[in-house]
Amino acid sequence: MPLNLFDMHAHLTDERFDVDRAFILNDLQKEGVNYVLNMGTDIEDSKASVRLANERSSVFAAIGIHPHVASEIPENYLDKLSELAKSNDRVRAIGEIGLDYHYELSPSETQRKVFIEQIQLAKDLSLPISIHSRDATQDMTDILKEHSKGLKRSIIHCFSGSKETAKIYMDLGYYISFAGPVTFKTAYNLQDVAKYVPVENMLIETDCPYLAPTPMRGNRNEPKYVGYIADTICNLKGMVFEDFCDIVYKNSFDVLGLK
Ligand SMILES: [Zn+2]
Ligand SMILES: [Zn+2]
Repeated sequence: MPLNLFDMHAHLTDERFDVDRAFILNDLQKEGVNYVLNMGTDIEDSKASVRLANERSSVFAAIGIHPHVASEIPENYLDKLSELAKSNDRVRAIGEIGLDYHYELSPSETQRKVFIEQIQLAKDLSLPISIHSRDATQDMTDILKEHSKGLKRSIIHCFSGSKETAKIYMDLGYYISFAGPVTFKTAYNLQDVAKYVPVENMLIETDCPYLAPTPMRGNRNEPKYVGYIADTICNLKGMVFEDFCDIVYKNSFDVLGLK
């Protein structure tokens, strides 16, 4: 594995990592993964994400309210997130935020309200966002068409849609981030999208502990498996592995404003 991978979406604060989090983080760079962008899903998890980023130079933090819990947040959640971001320059993104109509664990109207409020927060803080969108393409594209102006170039995480949808997002300036599903043997449509999306518009991520890529499918996912995703897309594109990794790595730095 080369030494130029950046896992752009992980949940290392998840309790499934309680037993070996330190071990995984100690081993990261040995596995070729230099950095991880760790998500926040609610206020407590966002605080945990920031704590982890403060402890580990290989971790950057995103903070935000996941659509699943959009109806369970305190009224002053925006102030809390804002304080957290302003008090710490290792907070590099607002995420994960978005819409999930598949599970619809919070009412869709609440999801839209909380999502749009957090887009505005990201604009105020000059941070990019990491977007979760599941079974919500129409509302997501409508919202992004209306609200992307003034937002830093941002990320559609774990993209699973069509070429047409990818094009809409790219035209709005978004990076398309691919996760484990692109490696699944029958993911022909998604592999077609990965061929179509220019590498300059692309990021890679694990979304660990979820969605482990082939050949680790079914196991708990880890940041080090991001190399399998890079390998799959690189093969689809017929690119040299190192070249592919270098470009996607640079994209990661660009979107997070890192040098
Ligand atoms: Zn997600
Ligand atoms: Zn996630």
